[in-house]
Amino acid sequence: MQRVSWDRYFMDIAQVVSSRSTCSRKNVGSVIVRDRTILSTGYNGSLRGLPHCDDIGHMMEGGHCVATIHAEQNAIIHAAKNGVAINDGTIYVTASPCWSCFKSIANAGLRRIVYGEFYRDERIFEFSQRLGIELEHLALSTAALSASALPAVPPIE
Ligand SMILES: [Zn+2]
Ligand SMILES: [Zn+2]
Repeated sequence: MQRVSWDRYFMDIAQVVSSRSTCSRKNVGSVIVRDRTILSTGYNGSLRGLPHCDDIGHMMEGGHCVATIHAEQNAIIHAAKNGVAINDGTIYVTASPCWSCFKSIANAGLRRIVYGEFYRDERIFEFSQRLGIELEHLALSTAALSASALPAVPPIE
């Protein structure tokens, strides 16, 4: 059996992380890694202590649910909360970062973004180049999806 690459390994883990998401609009998972070590993980969900979208419905604004903290921001926040340095790390995320998350990733000092599917903000392509952040696409693994029986990801809009 062929061993999976490190990128595939961490992206598959991000997919498993996404199964904890509590907003059915889109289940997203992220993993922050440096030196092949997982430093933090995050999935999109409600503010800590508040009810989940999946229980009380979404908070829609401009066609998007704004109730949740996104997976990337939760991973960064969890690192901060626990005093884990993530500077120069890589973030694996199952959907490409929105503009707000992209800005947080950049200022958190992450140097590489590997995303599974394109989400919605094209600006990340230009700005990653301008900032010297590596931005790479790695298709989500259907094997990981079926193996862990994750729910189907609903359409974005
Ligand atoms: Zn929601
Ligand atoms: Zn986001």
